[in-house]
Amino acid sequence: MEVWRISLKDFSYSVGNTPPSWERLGGRGLIARILVDEVDPTCEPLGDNNKLIFSPGLLTGFMLSSCDRLSIGGKSPLTGGIKEANAGGTTGLKMSYLGIKTLIIEGIPEGSDWWIIHASKNGIRFEKANDLVGVGVYNTANALIKNFGNKIAISLIGQGGEMKMGAAGIQNLDKEKTPSRIAARGGLGAVMGSKRIKAIVFDSEGGEKPSLSNEIEFKNAQKEYTKALMAHPQTKIYADYGTNAMPSLSHPFGAIPTRNFSAGQFEDIEKINGDFMRDLLLSRGGESETTHACMPGCTIRCSNVYGGEDGKTIVSPLEYETVGLMGSNLGINDLDMIARLNYEVNDLGLDTIEIGAALGVAAEAGILEFGDGLRALEIIKEIKQGTALGRVIGNGAVVTGKVFGVTRIPAVKGQAMSAYEPRAIKGTGVTYATSPQGADHTAGLTIRAKVDHLDPSVQAEVSKKAQINMAGYDTLGACIFAGFGFASVPDVVRDLINARYDWHVENDFLQVIGKETIALEREFNKQAGFTKADDRIPEWMTKEPLPPNNSVFNVSKEDLDTIFDWI
Ligand code: SF4
Repeated sequence: MEVWRISLKDFSYSVGNTPPSWERLGGRGLIARILVDEVDPTCEPLGDNNKLIFSPGLLTGFMLSSCDRLSIGGKSPLTGGIKEANAGGTTGLKMSYLGIKTLIIEGIPEGSDWWIIHASKNGIRFEKANDLVGVGVYNTANALIKNFGNKIAISLIGQGGEMKMGAAGIQNLDKEKTPSRIAARGGLGAVMGSKRIKAIVFDSEGGEKPSLSNEIEFKNAQKEYTKALMAHPQTKIYADYGTNAMPSLSHPFGAIPTRNFSAGQFEDIEKINGDFMRDLLLSRGGESETTHACMPGCTIRCSNVYGGEDGKTIVSPLEYETVGLMGSNLGINDLDMIARLNYEVNDLGLDTIEIGAALGVAAEAGILEFGDGLRALEIIKEIKQGTALGRVIGNGAVVTGKVFGVTRIPAVKGQAMSAYEPRAIKGTGVTYATSPQGADHTAGLTIRAKVDHLDPSVQAEVSKKAQINMAGYDTLGACIFAGFGFASVPDVVRDLINARYDWHVENDFLQVIGKETIALEREFNKQAGFTKADDRIPEWMTKEPLPPNNSVFNVSKEDLDTIFDWI
């Protein structure tokens, strides 16, 4: 596998060998290594010293169920720290067929033209993209598929990235060619926009699967892993209800954000939860699908296609985080409306978590009423138009709070929390507080841990374990739900890695790469100026009791400060 490097200063590129210290890393871990090695942590995130990095995981390339993810990284314009955001879809797979271990994009081009980067077996070429400026991701993807053929993968931005908004992500095609798998968090779409790259097209024609060191052993390990994954009870739940199965867990715990994180239960939960959504989609039929795979080979199929009354697709997929942040968090109890909001935000290439949280803060400031979906749609239209209000919301919850004088902002390190209340699931609160990535459930979700989620004394340990495992999965290129299979067959990660690379790793490999990744990320953030004060839940959440448990976030500062005890 090779290191592909593009300099936008002179539109040159190189293809080189992987340095030894990068070899045993992929995905999130490799991004952390490259950022520590090559990017000044104090640089301007939207300036020419920041780099935009694309890295498939260590196990990407084999259609191993849910393991073909792509990580994208750089210094975050939202947090000012290290950022890795990952996505399913098809980009990781196509990159691995081209033999790309990592693609590093450097510099900012001179002039004002926008560009498409085209990567294939013939190398890199650049094409002008000025006609696509101001075009949303759905139409941009269609135009690129028409131009470059049906066999490509694409990473692209919408108007949010073009306007360098803090909530801008990078969209990727799913296996049906819908640009719906977004590396959403931390504003990496703005970094791509700062480099005036509208899209990167990966054409894997003539490419091939990466090599395996021992094909038979890989297949055996794959069989064991897939069997365990299919047998896991959670797999069926996610196949039936998608990620919107989650309210059945988060709501009883009083942990679903409601009206700008002012309550943990929503009175209309039965109008937006997974049961309701499944029945609705089954009754509507047409293009609706209750289960759908975002990438080839996924056996869990947690994605879906949300069809309207006429059976025509409104959005695909509609997921729990969006239902939480743009539904209950905005007091909206209408799934059709949430799906419409989701579609519009997707088209702008923005993160629904960050935009939902920003709208919640705006509602607290009186810019819209909780429950008013039409007003929320109008504001999203303003983001597209680039009005002052639209740009405020598009830059996320913290900017919105500052502009409108709201201090109840649900964010850590500048990034909005996802749909798990840290006062009700305190282990996830520890993750929000301490993860180098900022508030992000995928950095270490603890809702399934068998502990009292309100007991502050046990949460640091629970979060630590979850954060190490997740940093490991993100480095492998594995979806969070692949963990159901990996946890059921403890040696299978070791066996897969050894069959792929002949590295003779031990069965603690997942934890080894997880710890290494977090240590590198902490190092970057330290050099960027982060201190203990940045590893805190917002003060108001330590004082304001959250109904119905009337709990506050009260994990001790000492526990937060000692969680990464191996660094
Ligand atoms: S489980 Fe869901 S997110 Fe993960 S690979 Fe499958 S469809 Fe994609």
